[in-house]
Amino acid sequence: MTVYDFERKPVKTRKKHWCLYCGEVIPVGADGVKCESGFCEDGPFREYVCARCAPYANEFAEWCDGWCESLSELFFEFMDERHPGWRDE
Ligand SMILES: [Zn+2]
Repeated sequence: MTVYDFERKPVKTRKKHWCLYCGEVIPVGADGVKCESGFCEDGPFREYVCARCAPYANEFAEWCDGWCESLSELFFEFMDERHPGWRDE
């Protein structure tokens, strides 16, 4: 049985990270960053999500139905479909 469990909570970054979704650099101490941590098929994981992507994370998970290989590519597809023009914000 696959145990998949994670939580997403706000963090202040103390190191530089890359956003799980858009792949952009999250600078140290950035505001609005969320950290996803938990367990998936491959074991424990910890990923960071930038302030721009965090509000869409749940909607995206629903949209792609939990399938997340080549995640950032799918994320851009999702955003262009559901939130056209998001890149200009
Ligand atoms: Zn992002």
